[in-house]
Amino acid sequence: MKKEDCLFCKIGAGEIPSTTIYEDDDFRVFFDVSPASKGHCLIVPKEHFDDVFALDEPTASKLFVLASKVARSMKKELNLEGLNIVQNNGTIAGQTVFHFHMHMIPRYAGDTVNVKWIPGEADTNELQELAKSIGDNL
Ligand code: AMP
Ligand code: ZN
Repeated sequence: MKKEDCLFCKIGAGEIPSTTIYEDDDFRVFFDVSPASKGHCLIVPKEHFDDVFALDEPTASKLFVLASKVARSMKKELNLEGLNIVQNNGTIAGQTVFHFHMHMIPRYAGDTVNVKWIPGEADTNELQELAKSIGDNL
């Protein structure tokens, strides 16, 4: 299903132009208009899902098969040294377009990309409780 007035639904359907690297029935892969680095692209399902919490299982299962293929092709064609795969969910997490998408961000020596966090400290008891409660929901 498409959502009214959703930018990535329209790009997915080809109603708004994009520099498309690849498309099939389920996905469009296109360059980000404001790239973090050379070759920064987005993998976008053609169907509308707000975020990872809404993603359905068939789409989720195809997504990383495609992502790994795109990553290998980018590695071959760009002179990249590394690659960050980033996927934001919710405003607090940096999501600005509320149609699920995965960022493929090539990394080069001296680039200005920053996806690092300050390492925290784990509470072993809390982790054990969380492992059980989160695990029980799967
Ligand atoms: P996020 O902040 O994770 O929601 O990422 C949204 C991304 O979409 C940003 O990196 C934008 O630069 C990118 N973006 C917004 N509009 C377009 C567009 N028309 N074509 C390509 N990328 C876009
Ligand atoms: Zn959409």
